[in-house]
Amino acid sequence: MAAMAAQHLSELIGNTPLLRLRQLSEQTGCEIYGKCEFLNPGGSVKDRTALGILRAAEASGELRPGATIVEGTAGNTGIGLCVLANALGYRVRIVMPMNQSREKIEQLELLGADLSLVQATGYDDPKHYVHQAQALAEKLNRDEPGSAFWARQFDNIANCAIHRATTGQEIWTQTAGRVDGFICAVGTGGTLAGISQALKERNPAINIGLADPAGSALYSYYSSGELRTAGSSVAEGIGISHLTDNIAAAQVDLPFQIDDREALPLIYDLLRAEGLCLGGSSAINMAGAVRLARELGPGSTVVTILCDLGTRYQSKIFNPAFLRAKGLPVPAWMR
Ligand code: PMP
Repeated sequence: MAAMAAQHLSELIGNTPLLRLRQLSEQTGCEIYGKCEFLNPGGSVKDRTALGILRAAEASGELRPGATIVEGTAGNTGIGLCVLANALGYRVRIVMPMNQSREKIEQLELLGADLSLVQATGYDDPKHYVHQAQALAEKLNRDEPGSAFWARQFDNIANCAIHRATTGQEIWTQTAGRVDGFICAVGTGGTLAGISQALKERNPAINIGLADPAGSALYSYYSSGELRTAGSSVAEGIGISHLTDNIAAAQVDLPFQIDDREALPLIYDLLRAEGLCLGGSSAINMAGAVRLARELGPGSTVVTILCDLGTRYQSKIFNPAFLRAKGLPVPAWMR
């Protein structure tokens, strides 16, 4: 047996490198690093969540051998669950809003997910994808008790627990504890909550920022106590209008609201000058890192999350027709 080889796909999740973002560091006089979560086997930060949730559910007995995993997802958690389910012998049923990128939908189909695309609607609507996923799991369990497991990524704190135990701990080690700030956007809140816990328990002075896209209610929640939304964003997988158990576990010092017009140019410049093509949530995170770096001042070290690759959104934020239809500027080189 090869001494250095991983024996199972799950061992490839996590332990991602930190990448120094050169232009952002030079522009701010700070050291800005991105954690390369796009290198996980399912291609996103959500592989960690999928692994954390499945391991916890196997340990508690909630997830039985051969069962069907049910989840409501914007796509990436579903992809992570499918990759692991194929490797561990589970089946997957995904409920997903139909306004998500076709690249994510095609990847889920390729991986063998039983996929239901539903209308994108508000959380208060019983037809919201999260409620439909819950209803589906309940129905499967009524028909055959114990046959289905609802992953429940928004309120299942196995989500933030794995980020606390892995992502947050890795950032601490990789910066040798010399990190002044961490910032990211919130979809479920698992990443922000877990990393904020891990860093604050090692050094309470570390500043935790929230990068909230337009259309999300968390900026208003952390700055005024009220859940209010305005505008919209093309970034998928982030932004939320209600509080989750994972968000409740986050420790936020500095909330920022980030507009797509501020964020998208950062991933376009990164592609052209540093060679990496990232998705929209990474753009929001990078813009947040710049805001946090400016707040903390020159010489600071700031870390954020590079959630997934831009190829997952090529038909959207790397497509001039899409950008024009959204009234967003098209970079000159893309025309
Ligand atoms: N970026 C992308 C592309 C995502 O899919 C998600 C998860 N929905 C996030 C960021 C946010 O991560 P979290 O759920 O941990 O808040």
